Amino acid sequence: MRFNPKARLDTSRTRDVGGSGGGGLGGGGLGGGGMQLPTGKMGAGGIVLLLVIVLISQCTGVGPDLGSVLGGAAGSTLDASRFDQAQGDTGRYANCKSGEDANNNPDCALVAVENSLYDYWKGEVNGQFQPENGVETFTGSVNTNGCGNATTDVGPFYCPTDQTIYLDTSFYRDMLEGQLGGKDAPFVRAYVIAHEYGHHIQNLLGIMGKVRTQQGPRSDSVKLELQADCFAGMWAQAAQTTPDADGNVLISDLTDTDITDAIGAATAVGDDYIQNRMSGHANPESWTHGSSAQRVQWFKTGMASNDDVNACDTFAAGAV
Ligand SMILES: [Zn+2]
Repeated sequence: MRFNPKARLDTSRTRDVGGSGGGGLGGGGLGGGGMQLPTGKMGAGGIVLLLVIVLISQCTGVGPDLGSVLGGAAGSTLDASRFDQAQGDTGRYANCKSGEDANNNPDCALVAVENSLYDYWKGEVNGQFQPENGVETFTGSVNTNGCGNATTDVGPFYCPTDQTIYLDTSFYRDMLEGQLGGKDAPFVRAYVIAHEYGHHIQNLLGIMGKVRTQQGPRSDSVKLELQADCFAGMWAQAAQTTPDADGNVLISDLTDTDITDAIGAATAVGDDYIQNRMSGHANPESWTHGSSAQRVQWFKTGMASNDDVNACDTFAAGAV
């Protein structure tokens, strides 16, 4: 993947709050459910932390990237403007001016991917489109506006209440590559952001309110997650033809390797794959995101959708 060196970047929706997030899971946990969580185990790595994720989602209905289940409530409160947009921005992305910068700096590549997602979905769901309230990166922990406190260990997530994508960029190296044995590659990073952006689109379209069942291979939670993968695939297919506000196409030279990398990432975050790494066996009844095969399948479905969101209707009878 390369970025058009002449394209201008818009940093207005991407910010970094550094390590000032405070709090952490011990301070109440995602969603503020007040649940007692295991603590002091981070040395054992993401595997244990993924257990924490499952626990959170079971007890509060709110988890990393499962924050989406809040959607039923959030669907009626889409006024994101009431949230502080510039909370302690470190200026990490301020110098990301052009596609050339994105080619040379992974931070600027994040801005560029966000810009491309924004441009794509603005055109795709036009009448219902609202920009997300930002992609917010942090180090260690973050105090979200709408989903309580979170730490790096929960992985990237979308909070529907404040319509923000939260991400500690160390996730790629430390958890995805280090703990899950996936690959940290440019288009893997793009896929992760595209998946989270897919949750934002679901929020705008009122789909999150459909989630009733939280676990199981055909649960609503799994359907929601697979649809986010499908939406990520839609964007991946269209990224090389999506014009920005200046009429420039931001992303070019998307290769088979890039797509293979993204599919590899989808595999590495499959519930069965993670469970097998954790405990040596998979338990489908506890799945929340879908198996590796399902996630790859729906990413590919999105790529083949020809820009039709209906192709990603994972909630249709028999689709999942
Ligand atoms: Zn998700």
